[in-house]
Amino acid sequence: MDERETTGTATAMIVKTTAGDETGTRPLAGTGVSPGTGYGPAHVLVGEIPEPDKEARHDGDAAAERDRAERAVEQVAADLEARGARAGGEAREVLGAQALMARDPSLAMEVGDLIEQGVAAPRAVFDAFGKYRDLLAAAGGYLAERVADLDDIRDRVIAVLTGLPMPGVPADAAEPFVLVAKDLAPADTALLSKDVVAAFVTEQGGPTSHTAILARSMGVPAVVGCAGATAIAPGTPVLVDGASGQVLLAPDPARVAEARAADEARRAVLSAATGPGATADGHPVPLLANIGGPRDLESALANGAEGVGLYRTEFLFLDRETAPSGDEQEEAYRAVFEAFPQGRVVVRTLDSGADKPLAFLPPPEEEPNPALGERGLRMFRRYPEIMAAQLGALARAAAGVSAKVQVMAPMVATVEEAEWFAEACRTAGLGDAGVMIEVPSAALRAADLIRAVDFFSIGTNDLTQYALAADRQVTAVAGLQDPWHPAVLDLIALAASAASGAGKGCGVCGEAAADPALACVLVGMGVTSLSMGAPALPWVRAALSRHTLAQCRAAAVAARSATSAQAAKSAARAELPGLGALAL
Ligand code: PEP
Ligand code: MG
Repeated sequence: MDERETTGTATAMIVKTTAGDETGTRPLAGTGVSPGTGYGPAHVLVGEIPEPDKEARHDGDAAAERDRAERAVEQVAADLEARGARAGGEAREVLGAQALMARDPSLAMEVGDLIEQGVAAPRAVFDAFGKYRDLLAAAGGYLAERVADLDDIRDRVIAVLTGLPMPGVPADAAEPFVLVAKDLAPADTALLSKDVVAAFVTEQGGPTSHTAILARSMGVPAVVGCAGATAIAPGTPVLVDGASGQVLLAPDPARVAEARAADEARRAVLSAATGPGATADGHPVPLLANIGGPRDLESALANGAEGVGLYRTEFLFLDRETAPSGDEQEEAYRAVFEAFPQGRVVVRTLDSGADKPLAFLPPPEEEPNPALGERGLRMFRRYPEIMAAQLGALARAAAGVSAKVQVMAPMVATVEEAEWFAEACRTAGLGDAGVMIEVPSAALRAADLIRAVDFFSIGTNDLTQYALAADRQVTAVAGLQDPWHPAVLDLIALAASAASGAGKGCGVCGEAAADPALACVLVGMGVTSLSMGAPALPWVRAALSRHTLAQCRAAAVAARSATSAQAAKSAARAELPGLGALAL
């Protein structure tokens, strides 16, 4: 039996598929990033713009050629903005950002320089964009996922210059279709709605790619990282499960009916669980949202978040060359505090470095292992003035708001670091200071660390990376990046019990909290709150509401008694019978 596993879904589930189903059609599998079932004919996005001739030269009038290139770029940027304005909401921001990227002066300069050397405009555009593409791809993480945006702009500009049809999706399909592509750019998806797209399937992209973000904001099921998807014959009926990541080709009608019925039943279960997070026997577990800035608030509130458990402040400043001003920071923080007048907001100070490089906080030199280098709090040791500015802005923003504001530092490894950070918070006037537990040393000595701070929040993404020595950004070791591993569970249990012994809170804000089964296990280990990407909230709320605290504890014991991630997951699930109703 050919089995494969994929990690890192929106709900952080491990997906297991087998080759061949009962219809005899080989299913495809990827990462489910937007749950739900979608069914319809495949619309395979093709029409790649061919690479312009390497040797193509213009007729000698460089000024005219430059002008032509500039007008083409402007036409594309204006078109992106117009599409954004028509679509509204999040698409407006995404397309606006893409238009800004198109108008980047350094790109224009690069194109102009090549044209001065005699290169024809289409080739100059191709080469100039190629240079920036490589830089983004090499940066990894969030930045690498912007490569699709840049490629899309390049293809659109070349289409204008060469008179080719604009790449993209037809807006006039007769019935809802499953949109299949190598990767999707914001311009492809902006004008689409739930009424025309049954599901998205892409070969590339991860949980933070635009396909994932937009699919979730549209409420359309999506599977990314699905190898072989673009080989699907156009028009083939496709059944997509955006939770498990399974993609079935030409399924039996009975199978489709079954999937639809299961989806409806699942939705009924999801909407039956409302209100604050709690187990079936009433043990409260506040359910909080992970956000990257004020624009994520709408979804957090819509999904019933009781507050924010992780405000990733570096996402406000990812594309900045200079440090943001105190006033600008204060405004962004206050907007979030005011959205939860009765709730709590846990702000993480800048987590720069490794997968989240910030241009204004560069490491001193090229690091051989950035994940083990100067990142997170370590960067503040180098730039204490940036920490003081951020803590000052947070204290000013927190003054006079009713939300409970908590501040925490990422990447803390020692008691001394925890003390240093807590002291800096107090000096700034912030009385509720915590640390993230994402380094094994911090978990192992959690009983020492908790004396220095007011709370813990466990970052299971990094804790898993460091416990298993598996870089988050290296696909080849993705199989090891599994928070179900009993070694990771043991570290979490250590932190939770140290916090509880001191009468302090211990939340989880890594992807593990978004996995409904693992969320029950975390609660069973003594974790006191769970924070996740907003779309996962209803799933976790429903899973908790269907199990007692005793069942969660039994699941935790079972999981920790196992010797592998897969066995831990199976053992826990056997103790959690209520998951069946969610078809998980
Ligand atoms: C984590 O490491 O689990 C976490 C929540 O932080 P980030 O994913 O932003 O590093
Ligand atoms: Mg982290």
